[in-house]
Amino acid sequence: MSQRLKLEIKALQAIGGQDLVILLSDTLAPAALAQEWLGRGAGDWLARAAAVERFKGKAFSGLTLLAPEGAGYERLIAIGVGPEAERGELDFVKLGGAIAGKLGHGRSADVILALPEVALEAGQIADIALGLRLRAYVFDQYKTKSRKPEEAEPIAVTLRLPDPAVAKKALKAADAVAAGVEIARNLVNEPPNVLHPEEFADRAAKLAKLGVEIEILDEKQLKKIGMRALLGVGQGSRRESRVAIMHWNGAKSGVQPVAFVGKGVTFDTGGISLKPGAGMEDMKGDMAGAACVVGLMHALAARKAKVNAIGIIGLVENMPDGNAQRPGDIVTSLSGQTIEIINTDAEGRLVLADVLWYTQERFKPRFMINLATLTGAILVALAQEHAGLFTNSDELSDRLSAAGKATGETVWRMPLGKAYDKMIDSKFADMKNAAGRHGGSITAAQFLQRHVNDTPWAHLDIAGTGMGAKDSEINRSWGPGWGVRLLDRLVAEHYEA
Ligand code: MN
Ligand code: ZN
Repeated sequence: MSQRLKLEIKALQAIGGQDLVILLSDTLAPAALAQEWLGRGAGDWLARAAAVERFKGKAFSGLTLLAPEGAGYERLIAIGVGPEAERGELDFVKLGGAIAGKLGHGRSADVILALPEVALEAGQIADIALGLRLRAYVFDQYKTKSRKPEEAEPIAVTLRLPDPAVAKKALKAADAVAAGVEIARNLVNEPPNVLHPEEFADRAAKLAKLGVEIEILDEKQLKKIGMRALLGVGQGSRRESRVAIMHWNGAKSGVQPVAFVGKGVTFDTGGISLKPGAGMEDMKGDMAGAACVVGLMHALAARKAKVNAIGIIGLVENMPDGNAQRPGDIVTSLSGQTIEIINTDAEGRLVLADVLWYTQERFKPRFMINLATLTGAILVALAQEHAGLFTNSDELSDRLSAAGKATGETVWRMPLGKAYDKMIDSKFADMKNAAGRHGGSITAAQFLQRHVNDTPWAHLDIAGTGMGAKDSEINRSWGPGWGVRLLDRLVAEHYEA
């Protein structure tokens, strides 16, 4: 959680780090700029070492060599970037991650950012810096014993390039996004006894220092507004529910805002429809949607995005005490529609129903996108490779899909339709909150859509992508901070003045 990367950007006048890092493509020829610092005869030495180690410059592979006496550095680390023709936009973030992965905590390194074939662009340099930071992230503040002393030290990296001024603006934006991802990761990783709804709202309120306007609605206010579906979920918990609203006003006043809505169930036991015990600890991540919204709002504000954006998160804890909601209960949502509770574990949609309705009525946004760890069924359909995308807007679908490909946070569009909608009709109320296993992600999305008017809307089911992440070049964290980069890209590409 503490800053594990000390990053500097400098020109190439002198190197002083313990490790020297260079980039090598499949040709294995160092860039002229790197050649200068390697010293005489180093090309030969490097070529022989590469042959012995079968290092072929494959993307993200590494070759670590002890430097000869008097080289001015202790280790030479070559990182592969693959053939130029195969290099994609996403590869530069991953490259930064691969570099951080090869370096050790408590050591210092100079990274010569130069390729023999092409000059790196500002955006690519910023992506490398972003990848470095995302990979260096560690969440270990609750470990008092097993941490190795050097792991407490940052990786000290100096990026060396001919003209550091060129990349300055892009680097600042990347820094804002990296900080947003880190905030989202921290929130998802925090234990649920620490991060309850009130504490979550307090953390969101910290964005005030970036100029984000904050409103925190407590239970009394939520009752007055009429968010009974949301309050019903939280009523079995000793912890009070909250709704936090973040306003970033980066465009002229009066410009229609975009809105991001997050499910923030800080712990989900399932309620009276109690979940099985095994793996229940993972349900601390049932607030990954809300975490992404906070991280995104940080990124937008920190890079002063020229957009008016609303972030709004529903924060509840789903517990089974004597006051808990029962299967069979009927609640009236803010929309005025009645909901029969079939399964108290289908709680996220109840929270979102009220927050979505509130958002469209109050803010009349240009679009609203909600993120929620909504259904296990989305994992059955898509594993952890894509988030499920449900939307009433082909334009949003196209834009989100493109932003997903560009950032590696990919989405896959799933169907909505009348036949699915019918599946949530209830015998006793206007609708029911659960409709069985078949099409479980879709019926959940239909439920949300019954609380959306004609506002362009997209629902991202991130139960697979938002927590329990697999290791990747840019992530070693359980909570990956999924969605911050995706939505920041969406805003940057299409919605800034
Ligand atoms: Mn649940
Ligand atoms: Zn849940």
